[in-house]
Amino acid sequence: MFKVALIGLDGQTVPTWVSDTFEKEGIEFIAQQCTSREMLAQVAGDADVVWVLGSHQSLYAENLDVIPKCGAIIRTGSGTDNVPVKEATARGILVANTPDALTDAVSDHAIGLLFSVIRTIPVQDRAMRSGTWDRHVAKNRWHLHGQTLGLIGFGRIAQAVARKLRGFQLHFIAYDPYVSAAVMAEQNVQAATLDHVLQQADFVSVHCPLTPETHYLIDERALRQMKPHAVLINTSRGAVIDESALIRALTDGWIAAAGLDVLEQEPPRPDNPLLKLDNIVLTPHIAAYSDEYFNEAWRLSVETAIALSRGQFPRSYVNHDVKPKWGLV
Ligand code: NAD
Repeated sequence: MFKVALIGLDGQTVPTWVSDTFEKEGIEFIAQQCTSREMLAQVAGDADVVWVLGSHQSLYAENLDVIPKCGAIIRTGSGTDNVPVKEATARGILVANTPDALTDAVSDHAIGLLFSVIRTIPVQDRAMRSGTWDRHVAKNRWHLHGQTLGLIGFGRIAQAVARKLRGFQLHFIAYDPYVSAAVMAEQNVQAATLDHVLQQADFVSVHCPLTPETHYLIDERALRQMKPHAVLINTSRGAVIDESALIRALTDGWIAAAGLDVLEQEPPRPDNPLLKLDNIVLTPHIAAYSDEYFNEAWRLSVETAIALSRGQFPRSYVNHDVKPKWGLV
């Protein structure tokens, strides 16, 4: 019997329809948060598909040998930085994800962070709640019209951000070494180098995955190239930005402000200096969340597992160079 093992639940409860659907499909299904190598071996040692929900649980390369039967890993969500893609590929394990479940919510959130920062909404809100009615407590310095928005990464979420912000009459530039200038031009976005984006953009929004290549892509050198009034938004992964360099950038005025949904360490240490700065808006890695997201995430993950059980390639997977263990069509 084809077996699917859900080994990382990200604090969620499995909806009953999920187990019912697998049962109807003749698929054995087990869901158990695995917190050790031994548990993983016990729960998923004989599983065909190993499934991880969200980004907070990692499946480590050194544990692939305890799931010898696994032919596919499903990572519910978009980023696969908590899954050993390279080592899985070498073993013929396909790595599927469900990015379409969250494009809308994350792009909304990136835009929300941008507006929160440039309209200083959280600062004004905090001041009013502490009894201060002062229209000069934090000056709104920015407007959107005519400004340049720079996108780093031009995948699903970045494209949705550009599409949704079109009415604000911004100029869009993007850096993505894997997307052609023609594809960007079709969406009225100008292709640019990373340095050009950093130097020209008034607002920079980061949307690339965390990979060895993008780790600390935004480091001190990058931050020092940005305009002093620039705003940096990050809904991708914390480690794409060198956080200690960002703290200096925000404190010493290399850039003006930031909006972050993701941090290098989550949750942050209570003494993380970012928590003390007023020119930053923070959210706890919740950009993807919405009622619709949760429904879609479960639905697309189940759809993916069923496709795999039928010997079909799933709708989305990241290691296109994999030679799958199973013959997939
Ligand atoms: P996507 O795969 O559709 O797009 C990612 C884009 O980044 C691709 O176009 C790719 O070519 C580009 N890219 C890869 N390497 C790059 C590099 N070195 N420099 C610049 N661009 C590069 O993914 P998506 O669905 O748009 O999601 C983007 C990222 O957002 C995910 O990888 C994930 O880390 C993050 N994310 C965060 C949340 C959250 O809750 N905050 C939720 C979903 C996704």
